[in-house]
Amino acid sequence: MSAEVYDFHTHTYLSDGELSPIELIRRAIVRGYRVIGLADHAGPGTMEVVVPQLVDACAYCSQHWDILAIPGVELTHLPPGEIDRCAREARRLGARLIVVHGETPVEPVPPGTNAAAVASDAVDVVAHPGLLLLEEAGEACRRGIFLEISPRRGHSLANGHVARLSEATGARGIVNSDGHSPADLLTAELARHVARCSGLGEEMVRRVVKDHPRALLARIDGRSGRRA
Ligand SMILES: [Zn+2]
Ligand SMILES: [Zn+2]
Repeated sequence: MSAEVYDFHTHTYLSDGELSPIELIRRAIVRGYRVIGLADHAGPGTMEVVVPQLVDACAYCSQHWDILAIPGVELTHLPPGEIDRCAREARRLGARLIVVHGETPVEPVPPGTNAAAVASDAVDVVAHPGLLLLEEAGEACRRGIFLEISPRRGHSLANGHVARLSEATGARGIVNSDGHSPADLLTAELARHVARCSGLGEEMVRRVVKDHPRALLARIDGRSGRRA
């Protein structure tokens, strides 16, 4: 049915979110979610602690409730040259979803982060990539990396730009909440609204809120079959 909600970028109190992993997942179920990715901010020194806890909580909730909870990480404010290595290390720790905190216009993210993210086969999503370059969007397309269209204040300033480059290059856009509190969680209607407001036509809106999340799930499943 049309009310399915997919969201691959949320935060718990293991980084700067408000809720425990289990409470966040429980509230997402009530909101209509079928799939939720927990991608707390982390890097060297924290992902060793954060990722195993998300792995356990996601397995527990997926076992008891009708939702697929995916443990992940959002690599945040790292030196760009470290992103590929850290993405691989996060996977080794059990993360099944690697989000990179992209070059949003409202934070001093190190320049070169977007380029490093789209150059890594271990990355799945570049969150709020801001003033991404055309070549970077093309590289995201070649590697099957998803480009986020964000409902979040500040990050959303560049949504129109990201949507335009996605369409121009064939890179797949995706709407995630980047939720830090329960009020941030998506609804199906909000996801469509955010995609529309980025300037996409109705056919592309449908792809962004439905086909692309399913494609990302397939990418995640495909990796699980060949986890090293
Ligand atoms: Zn945050
Ligand atoms: Zn985030």
